Amino acid sequence: MPEPYAPGLRRPPEPDPYTAGLPPAAAPKPYSPDELRALDRAHVWHPYGPMPGRQEPLVVESASGVRLRLAEPIEGQRELVDGMSSWWSAVHGYNHPVLNEAARGQLDRMSHVMFGGLTHEPAVRLATRLVEITPEPLQHVFLADSGSVSVEVAVKMCLQYWRSAGRPDKRRLLTWRGGYHGDTWQPMSVCDPEGGMHELWSGSLPRQVFADAPPDGFDAEPDPAYVGHLRELIAAHADELAAVIVEPVVQGAGGMRFHSPGYLRVLREACDELDVLLVFDEIATGFGRTGTLFAAGHAGVSPDVMCVGKALTGGYLTMAATLCTSRVAEGISRGEVPVLAHGPTFMGNPLAASVASASVDLLLGQDWESEVARIGAGLRSGLAPAADLPGVVDVRVLGAIGVVQLDHEVDMAAATRAAVREGVWLRPFRDLVYTMPPYVTGDDDVRRICRAVCAAAREG
Ligand SMILES: *Cc1c(COP(=O)(O)O)cnc(C)c1O
Repeated sequence: MPEPYAPGLRRPPEPDPYTAGLPPAAAPKPYSPDELRALDRAHVWHPYGPMPGRQEPLVVESASGVRLRLAEPIEGQRELVDGMSSWWSAVHGYNHPVLNEAARGQLDRMSHVMFGGLTHEPAVRLATRLVEITPEPLQHVFLADSGSVSVEVAVKMCLQYWRSAGRPDKRRLLTWRGGYHGDTWQPMSVCDPEGGMHELWSGSLPRQVFADAPPDGFDAEPDPAYVGHLRELIAAHADELAAVIVEPVVQGAGGMRFHSPGYLRVLREACDELDVLLVFDEIATGFGRTGTLFAAGHAGVSPDVMCVGKALTGGYLTMAATLCTSRVAEGISRGEVPVLAHGPTFMGNPLAASVASASVDLLLGQDWESEVARIGAGLRSGLAPAADLPGVVDVRVLGAIGVVQLDHEVDMAAATRAAVREGVWLRPFRDLVYTMPPYVTGDDDVRRICRAVCAAAREG
């Protein structure tokens, strides 16, 4: 048998190479919730947070089904029904036996290997599955390690496509206001430039072309004036535009607004006529959340490039994907630099890819459309009373997304407390109290979430 270890390196002793010779591992002393919070405040950044932290995060001990178990009772509650699906991702709930098994099985084979020069079944299986379930023209998959990176890759693909085609001036992006595409540099440049969380950087980011926000209402007829505005703006900038990038049907973290799928058809037509690529960011909307498997399905159109993430791994691990058409891929490969120069260290991570494939199979192996419709119906009836609350300007539901919009900035601490008192975890922002429950949420828990949203809207 060949010696697997280089001479000079000590070969780990058998039979248990990792623990032999070490003193028995002492389990670290658990922190009390108070210690944990103090260390957290001193050392750990949280999303969109200051340092040191000023809020009092709840300490979660474990999670199972749709419930988060806290380290100590708050407002009399030790368990909270998760109304957020951990930011759109945990669609099957927590600690799911099928996803656990996928992770465990892969863990015993390998957690990770580099993706340069190597490949493996988990990544190939997932990419093939994504090609199968997304619109037909999308044939090639870049496995990224987060949603923001998948958007960076989408932008790089589009810019490089035009550079390779001998049109390097086509390097700006057009989007509509009210969007959110992530927190790294290119994605920030296409987030809503006003009132959005990246306003601070407006002067430093690449300057993109912004259309007005799409008119509200999923069921509203497309507004001819707005359609004209979109077409004119794309036409006026076509020579410098690499792509139009939008979130289809639902603008998420930019304001939880819904628009007519008709505008997506308008974008598709205009982009075809004017030689501009079209990118759909389906990171929030993908995997059934809006009632169709992908939101583009409401419009029956296919983009040239599409990003998915969030629910891709059922909320287990960080992974996203950028899909593109053969036209885009072949265009890039014809250029003077015929490669896509992007390759994250953890690209195609086998653990994440295995769980993602299991999550997609779990979703498609059930009548997910009925589950999403059931939750939508529960949200519609449970949130209706919110329309009569003082300070509420709109209540809207699409797919398994429920939104209550206020006429003022939410008092986050008061709203969170009100929801926790009802036994529910919510994370309102700006003037919005909203929920997108896991698809496995039972009817009683959907009603409970609705009571919590109403309480948060009343007290926030
Ligand atoms: C969350 C989100 C992103 C960013 O994804 P991360 O994984 O947080 O980097 C991008 N686009 C949309 C539409 C999102 O909802």
